[in-house]
Amino acid sequence: MTECRRCGQPLFDYSPVDLSNLQACIRDAQIAAYSKASEIILPHSIDEILDELAQAVERLPSEYRERVGAPFLKYMQNSQVHGLNGFEETLVKAILYHDDVCYTNDLQLANATRAAQELIGDLWDKYLEEETNAKAGSSDLMAPLFSWSTHSSAAIYPAVNATMRDLDSTVALFPIGNARRGVLTWASFAHEVTGHNVLTANTRLIEELKTKIFQKISNKMSSYTKGSHLATYWSDRVNETVSDILGIMNMGPTRAIGIVGYLKAMNGGELRSQEGNHRDLHPLGILRGFLAARVMKKLPIEGSEVWSQEIKDLTSADYPKKITQSGKEVHARIRLDGKNVKYKEVAKSIRILVNTVFNTKLNCLNGKSLGEIRVWNEHDELEVHNLRKYIKIGSGDILYPASNPAGYYAQYVVSAAVMESLGQGANLPAIFQSMVSMLVAMNRFNPDWKEMDEICVQSDSDSDITEVVGLDLSSQAPLAYQLVGRHVVQEGWRG
Ligand SMILES: [Zn+2]
Repeated sequence: MTECRRCGQPLFDYSPVDLSNLQACIRDAQIAAYSKASEIILPHSIDEILDELAQAVERLPSEYRERVGAPFLKYMQNSQVHGLNGFEETLVKAILYHDDVCYTNDLQLANATRAAQELIGDLWDKYLEEETNAKAGSSDLMAPLFSWSTHSSAAIYPAVNATMRDLDSTVALFPIGNARRGVLTWASFAHEVTGHNVLTANTRLIEELKTKIFQKISNKMSSYTKGSHLATYWSDRVNETVSDILGIMNMGPTRAIGIVGYLKAMNGGELRSQEGNHRDLHPLGILRGFLAARVMKKLPIEGSEVWSQEIKDLTSADYPKKITQSGKEVHARIRLDGKNVKYKEVAKSIRILVNTVFNTKLNCLNGKSLGEIRVWNEHDELEVHNLRKYIKIGSGDILYPASNPAGYYAQYVVSAAVMESLGQGANLPAIFQSMVSMLVAMNRFNPDWKEMDEICVQSDSDSDITEVVGLDLSSQAPLAYQLVGRHVVQEGWRG
């Protein structure tokens, strides 16, 4: 057994990829996406909305209060509007969902809000840390502020409004049904935060990549093999495509299987293989599956080949087929932006595309490539492996190990939960709860967010919160211990 080059811990024996429970995870993601959970209902009058907003802004932790909440509130108070536009409504709700933690009668939703914010914050922090280490520049955007939405897919909402100055954070929206289930979909945060948000923070990145992708594909493929057509297809979808690739570079196999699982969940159990009537800025589902398989192949982890093959097989299963004269079943041509393309051409364009995104040195990254900033590696796999036993429900108590002073990132907890969920006999609700509990506990020790607890405890000390959460708040234990129930967390953990 060899050691991890980064931390010196012995590497574990890589167990075979177990996807026995994938179908149940897909079904779970499907129910979550379409569940009719209710979201915050805003008061009718703008004055009442602004009153609620003002109170909630006061309770945000200082960074978000000063850099997002307060300037937004000031803008709203000065603008004398009679209603909210889409952006304003989204941001008001985001702030209220965070405030909801203080007095909600829906503890599951409140906990899931904190859990999701923790994941977003850690994905963003880790990316920025690696970006700074690689001397590839550094963004001054904060981690997105989390919010729930009633749409069935996740999204990043840039906090840009024509009439006010840009704020220092975007809003990350996630389907509200995922507050209660759908662990596979939680990996989508990597696509939003380390994909779209990275591309929002560095505006030149998208233009430079778009040009490089077009050039590389059209140069390396002749027009006879649909080179310029595929170059246009991919460069037109650069934002979604690069977000998929970056998501896997930042969250590893969890996100790769998450893409395939989630897309199957959203399309009746199969990856989409035919274009719809409207032009989609996402590549076709089967292409995203092959893209994920290709990216997995490039990760410097022991199971990369196996993962890549599993994802390729799951994708191939949904690819249109034809029977040759010799009776062999092969991939048929597919239609992309109005032209028929052979499987070989599709596969070649994906290989060039992934290599371009990994390896091309970019001016806007101080001459570094994205592959020099952050690629999921054997150390990340080790962290996930170590956490899996704490996610697994056995005795009912979760005791975090305090052996690693650097602590864990939330993406490791979510990855551990996804890996456990995919395995044979997994208890999905128990794993989901376990994941949320761990993330909430981490958020309560996170320097950026723990301030909320202090504010909430003060403002709610006389309220009926004890009854609401069903826990004894009169005891001496810190709030973090109580809200996560029997789960024990030790100090010194990174948020
Ligand atoms: Zn996207």
